[in-house]
Amino acid sequence: MKVQKNITLKRYHSFACDEIAAFFTIVTTKEALIEGIEWASENKLSYLILGAGSNILFTKQFDGLVIKIELNGIQKLQETSSEIILKVGAGENWSHFVSYCVQKSWGGLENLSMIPGSVGVAPIQNIAAYGVEVSELILSVDAFDTIKHEWVILTKQDCAFSDRSSIFNQEPKRYIICAVQFKLSKQPLLRTEFGDIKAVLHQRGISCPSVESIADAVVYLRLIQWPDPKKLGNAGHFYKNPLISKDQYDQLKLAFPSMSAYPINDQNYKIEAEWLIEACGWKGVNRDQVCCDQNQVMVIVNKGATKGKTILDFSEAIKQSVLNKFGIILESAISIV
Ligand SMILES: Cc1cc2nc3c(=O)[nH]c(=O)nc-3n(C[C@H](O)[C@H](O)[C@H](O)COP(=O)(O)OP(=O)(O)OC[C@H]3O[C@@H](n4cnc5c(N)ncnc54)[C@H](O)[C@@H]3O)c2cc1C
Repeated sequence: MKVQKNITLKRYHSFACDEIAAFFTIVTTKEALIEGIEWASENKLSYLILGAGSNILFTKQFDGLVIKIELNGIQKLQETSSEIILKVGAGENWSHFVSYCVQKSWGGLENLSMIPGSVGVAPIQNIAAYGVEVSELILSVDAFDTIKHEWVILTKQDCAFSDRSSIFNQEPKRYIICAVQFKLSKQPLLRTEFGDIKAVLHQRGISCPSVESIADAVVYLRLIQWPDPKKLGNAGHFYKNPLISKDQYDQLKLAFPSMSAYPINDQNYKIEAEWLIEACGWKGVNRDQVCCDQNQVMVIVNKGATKGKTILDFSEAIKQSVLNKFGIILESAISIV
């Protein structure tokens, strides 16, 4: 295992801030991962697991060991005339993996095309887009349990998937994901009803869509709707949609009739964080080279700030204004270190 000292994390996370890791290593095998954890423990240091860095903000120097996961490989475990089971290394690039499946016409993941990140992090937040959650395609997750100090295989039920959540973020830092098993279909049920997929297919004169044409439509829509993290540093949606009680919803709806929210059950509503942020006047505000994206205010973009703290301060100012105006606490959807 090769440990580098005092390296900048700029190229290892999509906000691209110039924060330093005191120690840094890239692991390509499970053995090297264990070595990294033991090295940190022997040196009385904390460690941080890093995937592609597209859902994390470093706000200061990290004094421990950053372990970047590059456990790669796509292995075919089983194939029948109707389905295929794949085991994919946590370090594989998510978008490349989806393209690989789409090219072979294996269906299920096409609506999740072009989401930045690594395969290993997809189950953590149960990544979702255009009406599909990744958990629908996951059979199991291979991970290292840092409490029991053993390798485990968590079935889909063990993973306790729900909306943007799983056991992995309910028990943060307990599991280090090394591989994910997916079941894909050769006769997939294609999902075109979300977002503008149908409209794009219609514009292109496609009446019988395929896995490929849906993936193409999703990529087209994402190119228009999302800022490219390679050009404009960002980590996707910065906040979660907050959950509030029906009583609070009723009071707010009276005061703000245009408020955008949807019921989760009889007692709770989710409010669109986007609406709250826009209502606080953040659209178009630029402070210290940090602003909200012009298409999606939920995405905070870095237009040149070198320090993560500048981005954190901007996000805290948004949170404070939402709290002052609506009495609602916005929670971050990304990891803040
Ligand atoms: C432009 C843009 C668009 C996006 N669109 C979407 C979208 O449509 N839908 C969606 O769901 N998300 C979206 N995201 C969010 C992001 O792509 C996902 O959260 C992605 O899964 C992050 O993967 P990563 O490898 O980059 O995670 P990282 O940022 O590397 O890590 C995120 C967290 O997981 C931990 N971690 C990393 N690797 C492991 C591992 N192997 N085991 C355990 N813990 C680990 C890290 O410590 C950190 O806490 C978007 C992000 C961007 C920048």
